[in-house]
Amino acid sequence: MVTEELNPLKICQRQIKEACEQLGLSAGVYEILKQPQQFIEVSVPVKMDDGSVKTYLGYRSQHNNALGPYKGGLRYHPDVTPDEVKALSFWMTIKCAVVNVPYGGGKGGLVVDPRELSDDEVERLSRSFMRKLAPFVGPDIDSPAPDVFTNSQVMAWLADEYCQLTGSGTGTSGMGVVTGKPINFGGSVGRTEATSRGCIVTTKEMLKKIGMSMEGATVAVQGYGNVGGYAAILAEEAGAKVVAASDVYGGIYNSDGLPTKEVWEVTAETGSLTNYDNAQSITNEELLEMDVDILIPAAIENQITSANAGNIKATVICEGANGPTTPEADEILAQSDVAVVPDILANAGGVTVSYFEWVQNNYGYYWDEEEVNERLQKIMVDAFHDVYEMSQKQKVNMRQAAYLVAVKRVADVMEVRGWV
Ligand code: NAD
Repeated sequence: MVTEELNPLKICQRQIKEACEQLGLSAGVYEILKQPQQFIEVSVPVKMDDGSVKTYLGYRSQHNNALGPYKGGLRYHPDVTPDEVKALSFWMTIKCAVVNVPYGGGKGGLVVDPRELSDDEVERLSRSFMRKLAPFVGPDIDSPAPDVFTNSQVMAWLADEYCQLTGSGTGTSGMGVVTGKPINFGGSVGRTEATSRGCIVTTKEMLKKIGMSMEGATVAVQGYGNVGGYAAILAEEAGAKVVAASDVYGGIYNSDGLPTKEVWEVTAETGSLTNYDNAQSITNEELLEMDVDILIPAAIENQITSANAGNIKATVICEGANGPTTPEADEILAQSDVAVVPDILANAGGVTVSYFEWVQNNYGYYWDEEEVNERLQKIMVDAFHDVYEMSQKQKVNMRQAAYLVAVKRVADVMEVRGWV
């Protein structure tokens, strides 16, 4: 029975408070960072296919915009709550500051299960949501992105509605209102794999620090969606052997290594990697405790807790998911010398390429994939080293160090702007 704190809002408030105390910042910094600057709640009406009208609750949390416009995903999910949206917006402030991109933190959501709606209903709902959000968002104010159960098509409807509402056409002035758009409508090449690419870049840097390399390393990946699937494929391309992978239905294991692209195709065709034949079945719990060099939790939050942290055998954990490790588990991992590349660093490649998309929209000139990946690589390597050096200097773990780097960057700008 897990009794530790699992409320993400309480967890990140605590993490930011500890960083403020350790940095010896004035009380005003935490006073501002302890809650979002603005929280928007709207009722979103939509005409259903049968002619009836329904309303859905929508939220947007704008945590802090000291460094730049608020930035963060919009999720459509029946379990969306104000606290969850707020917590995720805190993390976006921290994540953008860790990779040093000029964005603040935002997050939003609609309380809806889009799988129960037709495509036309999702389109009308998204356009209606944008009409409610339009006074609060914009390329220089707040720029949402895809998240759980939203995708590039939803972003296209949101961007189109915003451009029509504001008369900004599809020129440079309105397109940056959301990122994660389709490539032929202002999206950036390289965005789909960006989060996973960032995971692999930072994992390689961590491996170098402990005298290991990706070549021949064994890997287990929890979650085989956008982040986990591409992380597995890129790890294999970098010379690692992906021996285990899982999704919500269970896991698969093969000590000779899984053909990651084939597993991806089976998942796309059948809905689950468990339908891949040439492997042994395992559970998600077994996968997490497997004796591998690298463990990549890339599914959901609270997977490594005080209940299983002591059994983790991986040398490096790269957190593709947001919040997969609880604070109590973190302490246990630190005692057993597991090297953790924390979520706010490891999975920041996605927001970094979202930033590239916004830059390209703003100047109306588009880069090729090589340029996107090179720029991403540099930002992720620099961020890794900033965090690693902070961890050595302050003698703290990588997660605490990432908070120290990020909170200091935000606090310095708040100071120079005269907020504290
Ligand atoms: P996704 O929906 O594409 O994939 C999620 C995967 O996790 C699926 O394989 C699903 O079956 C599996 N899963 C769900 N519940 C599970 C459970 N209880 N046990 C085991 N597996 C389970 O989502 P994604 O975009 O890959 O996101 C995964 C995580 O990464 C989330 O925490 C998300 O917030 C985070 N993240 C995503 C991005 C991005 O660019 N997509 C960026 C930063 C962080």
